[in-house]
Parts: sequence; C-alpha cells; structure tokens
Amino acid sequence: MRHLLSTADLPRQAATALLDTAEALKKSLLGREVHKLPTLRGRTVVTLFYEQSTRTRASFEIAGKWMSADVVNISAGESSVTKGESLRDTAFTLAAMGADCVVIRHPASGAAHRLADWVPTHVINAGDGSHQHPTQALLDAATLRDRLGTLNGRTVTIVGDVLHSRVARSNIDLLITLGAHVHLVAPPTLLPWGVENWGIRQAHGWPVTVGHDLDAALPGTDAVMLLRVQAERMRGQFFPSAREYSINYGLTEARLALLPEHAVVLHPGPMLRGMEIAHSVADSPRAAITEQVRNGVHVRMAVLYHLLAAQEDQP
Ligand code: ASP
Repeated sequence: MRHLLSTADLPRQAATALLDTAEALKKSLLGREVHKLPTLRGRTVVTLFYEQSTRTRASFEIAGKWMSADVVNISAGESSVTKGESLRDTAFTLAAMGADCVVIRHPASGAAHRLADWVPTHVINAGDGSHQHPTQALLDAATLRDRLGTLNGRTVTIVGDVLHSRVARSNIDLLITLGAHVHLVAPPTLLPWGVENWGIRQAHGWPVTVGHDLDAALPGTDAVMLLRVQAERMRGQFFPSAREYSINYGLTEARLALLPEHAVVLHPGPMLRGMEIAHSVADSPRAAITEQVRNGVHVRMAVLYHLLAAQEDQP
C-alpha cells in the first residue's frame, strides 16, 4: 500500500489486515508503562492541517511517536500558506526536507489525491472536505469489531448530516466492504442525491437503505453512528431549529431503550451534546466514544506501519 486516500480503494483483505495489525499493536502495548516501539525509527512523518482538529491530529502525532518516528506538525494558519504559498509548493518543500509521509487535512475534496500525484512521499488523507476520512472509518470498524465481534451481516444506522460528512462516506464504503448493511436516517435536506446507490460503488457492494424515522430504525440496529451537524459547511438553513433536529434525530435515553441490548453507540466527535446526543447517552456504557478515540491511535499506528515499514509484504 503506497497511500491511504479513501476507504473506497481498500479491498476487504487490505482493510482486514490493517484492522488486525491495529489489534496486534494494541495488545502488544497493553499494560506497558512505556508506549514505544522502535519500528519507524529514522522515519519522518509530517502532519499538514489546513482545517482544525483535536482527535485526528493528536492521534497521528501520538501514533508516530509511539512507533519512534520523528513527527513534525504544520498548521496552515501558522505557515507560509498565509503568505500565499500553494499546496503544491508546500508539499514539495516538505518532501525536499525528507518527509517520508505527509498526513493531510484540507477543506477541498480531492486535495489528498492531488498531493499523492505530486509528491514522492506516502500520503494519508486525514479528511478532505466532505469527501473521505479513511482512518476515522477504520477506527470505527475497529471499535465495532471489539464490541460486536464481526461486522459481517450487522446493521449499522448512520444518523444526521450525511450530506456534509466525510465520516459517513468513508464508513459507507468500508462497512459495506466488511459485509455490513448500512441504513441512513436524516432529514431529507441532509441526504445527498442518489445516496442509495453509494453502496454499489464497492466491488461486491449493495445499496444502502434510507429513512427519516429514527425510532423505527433503532430496534433493528446493531450500531448507531451519530454524525455531527457540520454548520461550517452549510450555506443556508437545512432544518428549522436545533430543537427540532434534536426532537427528530437526537439520541435520547428513551431512544437508547429502543436499541437491542448488545447495540453500540458511536460518534466521531466533536459531539454537540444535548442536540445530537443526550449527555447521559454519551456517558453511558453503551457508548463507545472513548474507545473510538483510543482505537484511533492503534489504527493510525497500523496505517503508518503498513505504509512505511511493511511495503514489501503488501499487495
Ligand atoms: N472529526 C470528524 C471530521 O473531521 C467529524 C466532524 O468533524 O464532524 O470529519
């Protein structure tokens, strides 16, 4: 594997190999006081972020450091980008300094793909506009495997702002590749045109199902994945009010009770508590939100390992 740009490019075998590596790394670090493996000693990872981030950026940095790579963080707002430098020139500058891997987050869909065409380094997409966020989908899959054993034959209900969500796109691709059924629940204004057919983009895929009634969907769900309402990507009003959104699509305690006993609640963060998810639900043992964050480090270690250390074993 040379780059990780999209979960749509990940065959089942490659996705499973990444998840297995993440699990093995997690086990090997369990109970250790010192979180350090020598695997990526001498390698340089640059995170290049043109958008804000808490979880993704910190967890790539921690993942690189736990693997002994040298990690350099660049925020566009504090770099020569503010002086007018193009993405291409910034990327060539980093490559010339010896970066082995660039982890990029950018508001433009397709930015990571462009970068991968230009520079000789490995490229990891850490979120490009509303297009893809592959490591988020991988850490979600790792968390679901931990809680449910397998994704094969499971039903995952994705709720909320699908229209603007790279998390939804990456998850739909990966969940279907791993054999899950995906059901989308959202206000009609927050569902992209033709979304039913997204699942059939996969080699052996099938359509996703779509509805607007969360209460009806919950009893048949193995996992409910809430999405953030992405106001920063909205031009105009997509629903009447936060209160109405919450009444129709918020995961309340009453709705939690409609889920089967084994079902798990996910949210990629940052959460809008009280609107997308009730405080008590977010903090309940049914929610795996902290586990998602924890698995994010191991998944990103696995991705760095597969890109930078294990190329010869990869298809
Ligand atoms: N953190 C995720 C992302 O960067 C989800 C979100 O921001 O809503 O896409």
